[in-house]
Amino acid sequence: MENPKKAHKAHVLVVPYPSQGHINPMLQFSKRLAKKSIKATLAPTICFSKFMQTTEISTGYNTSIQIRPISDGYDEGGYLSAESIPAYLDSFRTQGPKTLIQLIDKLKEEGDPIKAIIYDGLLPWVLDVAKKSRLLSVLFFTETCSVNSIYYHVQRGLIKLPIMGSGSGLVSVPGAAELQVWEAPSLVQDYDSYTVWFDGVLEQFSVIDQVDWVLCNIFYDMEKEVVDWMSKMWKVGTIGPTIPSYYLDKRLEEDNDYSFTRFKPKVDSCIKWLDTKPKGSIIYASFGSLAKLSPQQFEELAWGLKNCGYNFLWVVRELEQPKLPKGYIDEISGLGLVVSWTSQLEVLAHDATGCFVTHCGFNSVLEALCLGVPIVGVPHWGDQGTNAKFVEDVWGIGVRVKKDEMGIVKREELVKCVREVMEGEKKNEICKNLAKYKKLAREAIDEGGSSNKIIDEFVEYLIRE
Ligand code: UDP
Repeated sequence: MENPKKAHKAHVLVVPYPSQGHINPMLQFSKRLAKKSIKATLAPTICFSKFMQTTEISTGYNTSIQIRPISDGYDEGGYLSAESIPAYLDSFRTQGPKTLIQLIDKLKEEGDPIKAIIYDGLLPWVLDVAKKSRLLSVLFFTETCSVNSIYYHVQRGLIKLPIMGSGSGLVSVPGAAELQVWEAPSLVQDYDSYTVWFDGVLEQFSVIDQVDWVLCNIFYDMEKEVVDWMSKMWKVGTIGPTIPSYYLDKRLEEDNDYSFTRFKPKVDSCIKWLDTKPKGSIIYASFGSLAKLSPQQFEELAWGLKNCGYNFLWVVRELEQPKLPKGYIDEISGLGLVVSWTSQLEVLAHDATGCFVTHCGFNSVLEALCLGVPIVGVPHWGDQGTNAKFVEDVWGIGVRVKKDEMGIVKREELVKCVREVMEGEKKNEICKNLAKYKKLAREAIDEGGSSNKIIDEFVEYLIRE
């Protein structure tokens, strides 16, 4: 029986892939829904839910976000404890649906049935659960529409692999910038090395025609033509950027941060350090929550950051710290600060931050774009190389490094790129573009903006269906 006293108009289940970069946007979108009286229950994996250290996230509105985990079969150690990535994904594919169906039944028993499942494209099996449970299905893209369009074209055989040997050697999809092969997502460029991810990522597009809505964590002006093209085939909604409201429209009162962090952050020491530095003077460097750089690459970046001559703040996750050169912390004393994790948003929003050396994970790119920080792109894998291309050539909000013939970014190259955005000829143009996109991002999510209108339309759909 449905609870007659409930304060919300519909209830959705949100199923993210278990990583910081995938949960952040879906959780943030859930907060936007809460403001519009839609209740969202987040279903991370049991292992990941332990990092979240709470069973409920307050939204400031009538409805909070409940955390109700499901199993990937590795409840203690998550994917890090799996024998291999294929073993992990296989296990998730078997355990996930069972426990997801149990959760859907449980919520129904509790008088609060689910209307729709919003799921991460990396978990294509969720669509099957939604169909079997007669729920609306909503695919959520955490990567750009251009990257997803490339995956779609590959899945449908419209881009033939290997790309090297075909036609012009360019990767081209409707409405998006043409890419050289080396700028394409690594799954497409080098699919032999990434077969596990390749199959999983492409699978979502074999069933995308059955999905009720496709939501994208961008705003319309970022990729107009690609969105228009996609909208001819599917019900597409651009609902981003999903950066906490405090940094954008400030309309969600309690939305100051991402509500959880995968690693323990050292925020106070970073902010204290930044407070002592002049405006726009420091380099912030971070390669996200997952990247594992080779020791050689690590060393080049370490000395590159030092050789830039600017003060720098570098996030090196604990597991990566053994790769720091011997004696490095002493060598950079007075110049650089290395921390294991921080609040990236607070650092990017700080006046002292002059540029962001990033792996170009899409959340990091969006954050820099929304907070107006010039980017030096040092892409590692996945969609990052394509994001870096867009940063430099499409949005014009930064530059990207060139790798040598061994695929290594040399220290001199990093220094050159950092100087370019901090004091070079491109600086003014980059700052002008950042000001433009920063404004567009706020307008899109604010009252009357394109993303906000689409969220309204989506909410009406949820209530009506
Ligand atoms: N992040 C953070 N503190 C850090 C480094 C990163 O809060 O010290 C956050 C960052 O704000 C972003 C996410 O972690 O939202 C990383 O996502 P992204 O897509 O950039 O990269 P991924 O980790 O998925 O490779």
